[in-house]
Amino acid sequence: MAEPLFERLCLVGIGLIGSSIARVAQERGDIARQVVAHSRRAETLARVRELGIADAVEADAARAVRGADCVILCIPVGAYAGVMRVIAPHLMPGAILSDVGSTKGSVVRDLVPLLPEGVHLVPAHPMAGTEHSGPDAGFPTLFQGRYCILTPLPGSDPEAAEKVAELWRRCGSMVETMDAATHDKVVAIVSHLPHLIAFTICGTADDLAEETREAVLKFAASGFRDFTRIAASDVDMWRDVFLNNREAVLEMLARFTEDAQAFGRAIRWGQAEFIEDRIRRGRSIRRGLIERKQA
Ligand code: NAP
Repeated sequence: MAEPLFERLCLVGIGLIGSSIARVAQERGDIARQVVAHSRRAETLARVRELGIADAVEADAARAVRGADCVILCIPVGAYAGVMRVIAPHLMPGAILSDVGSTKGSVVRDLVPLLPEGVHLVPAHPMAGTEHSGPDAGFPTLFQGRYCILTPLPGSDPEAAEKVAELWRRCGSMVETMDAATHDKVVAIVSHLPHLIAFTICGTADDLAEETREAVLKFAASGFRDFTRIAASDVDMWRDVFLNNREAVLEMLARFTEDAQAFGRAIRWGQAEFIEDRIRRGRSIRRGLIERKQA
């Protein structure tokens, strides 16, 4: 077995993503010698103790991060600034601070001003997840074969970035590096807009007259069901994603709205070729995903 990457890894937040990291670390043994979990609610901490997925469970955030050579924030992105104010004075000089948040520009905005001298920030986003949350939802193979995007800051310590990259490789991920702004645009189209559409379509269905709504639920298998799975996602997490990737989501939504209107116009004017072209493009994107083993 390879040497553990870290002596003490502290997971601040231990829901779906944090508990999946804890499970991989426990299973492999070469990620950290000790894993400490912190969460804000006593119930979550009690459940983590019952599950036995961390070596130590700490209710106090400042105590949790003390002595940790790697701290990973696994909480909704809107909570970063508040939590950082509490932990920053207790971060060890030379420690790596990373995260798993779905937006990256906001991470830089919220963490950099509070970053103590000598602490290395390496933002990361594992492109893996499910609609479930909490420590019971995690599983050790969640990151297997999935991408993890790192958005290191210009001029930051390359050794720290390499250690975080290696952590994700040991979790089974393929690591890519890009700047925060590019990341935020990419995820706006591949993840945030599809969620916005799913939340909206479920709302539209819910607004329908009683009788129609019943029929929608009854015959949901014809396509609507896939949207409901996406729409079952966590409220806090998704509120924070939309509020913290505002510009990119609004830009993608504007483009999408234009394209959807063009589609509607083609239907109105009976433009079969336009419609066929859109369907073909959809099919070819799906084939591309299957070929890349990302379907
Ligand atoms: P989750 O299962 O809901 O767990 C959230 C964790 O954060 C829990 O430990 C929770 O503590 C804590 N928390 C929630 N609100 C907080 C607050 N205001 N202050 C301090 N702690 C708070 O969430 P998750 O799915 O693991 O998501 C965690 C992060 O990963 C988010 O930033 C999300 O954007 C990112 N992410 C999620 C996915 C996904 O598909 N779910 C994929 C990639 C990245 P308590 O339980 O003690 O309340």
